[in-house]
Order: sequence, then C-alpha cells, then structure tokens
Amino acid sequence: MWIYKAYFEDDGEFFEYDAFGGQGSMAAQKAFPYLESLLSFLEMDYEEWEPLMQQVSKNLDPFFATNDLAYTDQVMQVLGELGEKHIYFKLLYMQWFWRKSRGSVEPWMAEEMRQLPEQLALYQKQAQTFLENILDIDRVGRDVQKNTRENYIFDQPRDPALFCFKPIPVSFGPMGEESCGTILYPNSIRDLIDFALRDCVAQNIPVRRCRNCGRYFPIIGRVTAEYCSRPQPSGKLCRNIAPVRKWAEGQKKDLVFQEYRREYKRHFAWIKAGKISEEQFSDWAKQAKEKKKDCDAEKISLDEFKTWLKNT
Ligand SMILES: [Zn+2]
Repeated sequence: MWIYKAYFEDDGEFFEYDAFGGQGSMAAQKAFPYLESLLSFLEMDYEEWEPLMQQVSKNLDPFFATNDLAYTDQVMQVLGELGEKHIYFKLLYMQWFWRKSRGSVEPWMAEEMRQLPEQLALYQKQAQTFLENILDIDRVGRDVQKNTRENYIFDQPRDPALFCFKPIPVSFGPMGEESCGTILYPNSIRDLIDFALRDCVAQNIPVRRCRNCGRYFPIIGRVTAEYCSRPQPSGKLCRNIAPVRKWAEGQKKDLVFQEYRREYKRHFAWIKAGKISEEQFSDWAKQAKEKKKDCDAEKISLDEFKTWLKNT
C-alpha cells in the first residue's frame, strides 16, 4: 500500500511518501518552512492544475472503453508532472500509482478526477478567506483562537465562504529525530488544507503580509516581524534583503535632502547679496522642490539632481 504522511515540527513541516509503502529512509522526504505548502498552494493559479487534470480525465474514458494500459501510463505521466508542481499533488500520484498497479482503476475515479479542479478552487478560496478573516494579524488581531470561536458554530463556519473543518485521518507517533506528535495520513488534498489551518489555530499562529513581497507568512515568535523568510525564486530571503534595502533607501533620501538644503541656503544668500530677487528665488525653490520629488521617486538620478542644482 502507498504511503503519504505529513506533520509539523518546530518551525517546519515535513512530508514523507512512497509508492510502495516504505517508511523512514525508504520514503522520499521533503521539508519546508512552517505553513509553506499551504501558502504556496493558495498562491497557485487554477490554470496550473486544471488542464493537467482534464488530460487525466481524457485518458480515462478511452481506457474504460478499451482497457488499453497505454492510457493509464499516460495518466501516470500527467500526474507525475502535476506532482512536480506542488507537494499536495504528489498525493494524487501515490493514490493513482497504487490503483494502476493493482489494476483497480474504476469509472467512479474518473468522475472524482473531473470534479477535482473545481473543488480545489473552492477549498482554495475558503482557505484564503480563513487567512484573511481569522489569521491575518493586521486585520483581525493576534488572538487566532478567539477569532475562530467567533466564526464557527461547533465545526461549521457561520459564513459559508469560510473553510469547513471535517474529521481527518490522523495518527500519532515518533516524528523527525526526537519528538512525537500528530501525523496526518491524508486521503485528499482537502485533508492537507484542513490539517494546516487547524494547526495554526491550535498553536495560535497568525499570518501577516510581507512588506517586501506582499505574500502571507506565518508569525512564529516575534510578533512585530514585517518581512517573511519564505523561499523565493532568487534564493534570497525578504527578511535579510528588505531591511537592508529600506536602510539604503533611507540613506539615499538623506543625501538628496542634504544636497537640496545646501543649494537652498546658497540661493537664499543670493537675495541678500542682491544677485537675485525674492521672486526669482521662490521660482527657483519651487522648481527645486519638484526636482527633489523626482529624485526621491527615482525619476532622475542623484547626480542629475546635483547637476541641476549647480547649474541653476
Ligand atoms: Zn517576503
């Protein structure tokens, strides 16, 4: 029997899966920062999964008509491609690998696959609403448990647009190197979303939009954290690069201001010296202010600004 399990430990999340049911060193293991799989799934586009799932369905119909295994081979190839896009989709691959190898691919599974794209889009929306209305510290405060209590009657949301919790298949046992805890053995991608959301509530972990990349990130520890440390295509972390950039921008602004102030004083002195009139000065000051704005907004460079100041 195939295996796919997920658990949270410290500030990470871990997945293990194996098409032949191997555990521990036998299985493929993946580790991510806490909540990364859910957040990255919520940021995925419908177009990233829908066409591939359609392809699976399209290969299943002729398979049932002909029993030709070339069609299910094709199914596995597409599911493999899907599994590379997101760790959640690896679950589908494991399930279907087993179905295929046991020769138990049945017509209801085709219907299941046909409905999946829309279902995932719905769960995605509901989970996004959950993030906004329950976990977003800047919108609804940091008390995640209180927010959840206010929004749910037992396990049902008051607002149908919100994610609906259901029983999920969990077990308990050793995880990682030295701890024990709850381990999810999901039957569906819905179970994975459910497990991640309930863990945030259980641990009272809110989320915030990163000031650099705009994506949500979990707040573990320091509640004033403004930048995420989520993986980026560049390999750099917002938490490391953004404050440096902010500092550099501040530095540059100071330089622009210094140049502006020096020239302002110099021009002002010209009035006393009778070199220019007050009117001429105020005209110049108006223009200089505009140029300074352009420089702050990076429409012109600092050097261009300096040259302009010197030549007027
Ligand atoms: Zn970020």
